[in-house]
Amino acid sequence: MPEWNEADLASKRRRAYEAAAGVRDPEIPVLTIADLGILHDVSIGPGGRIDVVILPTYSGCPAMGIIQIEVETALARAGFAHANVRLSHSPPWSTDRMSDEGREKLRACGIAPPSRGAGKRSLFETGEEVACPRCGSPGTERISEFGSTACKALWRCTSCREPFDYFKCI
Ligand SMILES: [Zn+2]
Repeated sequence: MPEWNEADLASKRRRAYEAAAGVRDPEIPVLTIADLGILHDVSIGPGGRIDVVILPTYSGCPAMGIIQIEVETALARAGFAHANVRLSHSPPWSTDRMSDEGREKLRACGIAPPSRGAGKRSLFETGEEVACPRCGSPGTERISEFGSTACKALWRCTSCREPFDYFKCI
C-alpha cells in the first residue's frame, strides 16, 4: 500500500471537482453542471482513479450523454485520465437541487428559474405561479408546454407582454 498524503489527496480531489464543475450544460450554457446540481460527487478511488457521479435530469434528456463525455474530457485536460464518470438515479435529481447562483444566472438571461419544492406542491395546487424574469410581475400565463428545449415551457408576461422560457419543475 502506498502512503497517501491526506493533503495531497484533498488538493487532488479539489482540482478534479473544479474541472468537472466547470462543465456547462449543452442546452443552457450559462449554467454549469454544478449550478444545476447534476454534479453529485467527485471522489478518489483505489489507485488514485477519479470517480464522478452525475445525476440525470429529465429522463431521456439527450444532453446527459454529452455531459458525461464533457466531464471525462475536462478531467483529462486537468490531468486526470481514465476518470470514471457514471450516472446515478440515487438520489433522484430535482430542480430543487439547482443552486441560488444558478437560479440568478437563469433569470439574468431571461429564463424563469424553477420554483422550490414544486414536486410536493404540485400535488395540491393546480396552477403554478411563475414570476416574469424580465419585470418580476406575477401576472404570467403558459403558452406552450414546450419551449426551446424539452426541459423548458414557453410562458408569456401579461404586464410587459414578453414571452419567456420557464425551466420546468420536477
Ligand atoms: Zn414581464
